[in-house]
Amino acid sequence: MLLIPCPYCGPRAESEFTCGGEGGVARPADPDRLGDAQWADYLFMRRNPKGLHHEQWRHVSGCGRWFNVRRDTVSYRIDAVWRMDEAPPAGVPGAGGAS
Ligand SMILES: [Zn+2]
Repeated sequence: MLLIPCPYCGPRAESEFTCGGEGGVARPADPDRLGDAQWADYLFMRRNPKGLHHEQWRHVSGCGRWFNVRRDTVSYRIDAVWRMDEAPPAGVPGAGGAS
């Protein structure tokens, strides 16, 4: 069983959570200027890396809150968890480090 460390409740079973997909996807700065292809990229195209991946999870059977997870898609190991109002740790896209 995968234990996910909710930043509000602590470690809980994966069955209490739902994955909301890739995290850190920035909304377009000026949506009126996007063409159809750019909208399609924003709405539907997501990374599918082999290795570390930034994801959004919600603790649906607990506090109900959304938070960020960096999880290795091969080993399932979670190496970072942070709240939505926190800055991502170094090495996560948006943290100012390497992505
Ligand atoms: Zn929670």
